[in-house]
Amino acid sequence: MNTFPIPIGSDIYISFFKIKRGMQAKIQRKIDYYIDKIMEYKIERDIVLEYEDRTTINLECWELDAERMIDDGVKYFRGLKANVAFADLHLQYDLRPENLGRPGIRRVPFLLEENANQLTLSHLDHMSWCVNPMHHCLESLDDNKGRNGCPGCELCRHRVRCIRPGPYYMGESSISIPLYILNRLNN
Ligand SMILES: [Zn+2]
Ligand SMILES: [Zn+2]
Repeated sequence: MNTFPIPIGSDIYISFFKIKRGMQAKIQRKIDYYIDKIMEYKIERDIVLEYEDRTTINLECWELDAERMIDDGVKYFRGLKANVAFADLHLQYDLRPENLGRPGIRRVPFLLEENANQLTLSHLDHMSWCVNPMHHCLESLDDNKGRNGCPGCELCRHRVRCIRPGPYYMGESSISIPLYILNRLNN
């Protein structure tokens, strides 16, 4: 049984259609529109995490002002609702005219990456609701799971660094071998 929970919000192995020749410019325009809207409607949330050793980490996570986006008639975003907590919205980006379906919005910055359809979106902040593109990366499912046990920040050895410790980095259930066995092994 796989006991490693996949971070909530990871949209794994979304299957895109192949990007057709000549579609790049159109897709690029839609990516640019997406980034413009993210910048225009973002609400910054300071997330301060404190650890037992008294270190603190301050993450600048973003949500979107869904209500204002609806009022302003922002295009292509699907799933916007007023009076619903942002974390409960499952926002998609409409790329059906480009034959790319409706991927989760956090995948949009990666749309032109080769093999994007075989890779998992990872939340470097372990905040499923955050839309700050600097808090996301694309990687294999194995690498995604590996982040759950990573100490993060300056101790992280990932190529794209974890910006906080993973939820299981401390190995709290770990028990070492009994002392008498250790003594026997060392004698
Ligand atoms: Zn974040
Ligand atoms: Zn890491």
